[in-house]
Amino acid sequence: TQALSIRGLKKVYHNGFEALKGIDLDVEQGDFFALLGPNGAGKSTTLGIVSSLVNKSAGSVKILGVDIDQDFSKAKRALGVVPQEFNFNQFEKVYDIVVCQAGYYGIPRVEAKQRAEHYLKELGLWDKRHSAARMLSGGMKRRLMIARALVHDPKILILDEPTAGVDIELRRSMWEFMKKINAQGTTIILTTHYLEEAENLCRNIAIIDKGEIVQNTNMKSLLQQL
Ligand code: ADP
Ligand code: ADP
Repeated sequence: TQALSIRGLKKVYHNGFEALKGIDLDVEQGDFFALLGPNGAGKSTTLGIVSSLVNKSAGSVKILGVDIDQDFSKAKRALGVVPQEFNFNQFEKVYDIVVCQAGYYGIPRVEAKQRAEHYLKELGLWDKRHSAARMLSGGMKRRLMIARALVHDPKILILDEPTAGVDIELRRSMWEFMKKINAQGTTIILTTHYLEEAENLCRNIAIIDKGEIVQNTNMKSLLQQL
């Protein structure tokens, strides 16, 4: 089974704007996959539909072979999602945000704490565990979102522009972290508008423009064409 399989996906927003014009996309398990495209191409809309934050207008989405319309709770367990906007409670403490998230997945408290500690350490946030989230820098908030997305050990990690607005040094360390998670078996799907980021990280890539997939290939053959 594919990690993600999308067929004929369309999105028409309420104002009549057609953001996705019937896209097909497949991502294999274990892949490191980039959805690359300029601003406004439909990247966030696609990931929003996959993570069920946005309603689709037509088409189907399967996650690990399960249609999100049939059994979204199962699909949801398989996913860790890092949206572009910071959507945690800014007044809550870093540690509590991650532990609390584990609770939503029914992970027992003791284990939730262990996992929170593990990921906060991995992401260099352990020293900040008692800080309110609003006290963190932008890069730290981004890493907090990643720790929170990983706490239930999802099979697939989805990240929308994970390094947007992050300085080059931190970007490199985030790249290393994502590579490590991927090497441990987690499928990674990210959006980016930097070719350099996709080039550094990804095995397979789809290029989206104006709501249509214009290329879907592996990174090596794409680079040979440029
Ligand atoms: P849906 O069709 O998924 O219900 P809506 O059309 O109701 O989505 O819009 C959802 C939200 O996105 C609204 O609060 C709206 O203000 C906001 N929004 C509207 N236009 C844009 C845009 N061009 N880019 C981003 N967000 C927008
Ligand atoms: P990307 O992530 O590639 O920058 P998006 O998926 O955010 O692109 O947006 C695709 C297009 O849909 C853009 O033209 C955007 O303005 C429009 N759009 C996004 N959200 C809404 C919304 N809620 N209502 C109307 N248009 C929207």
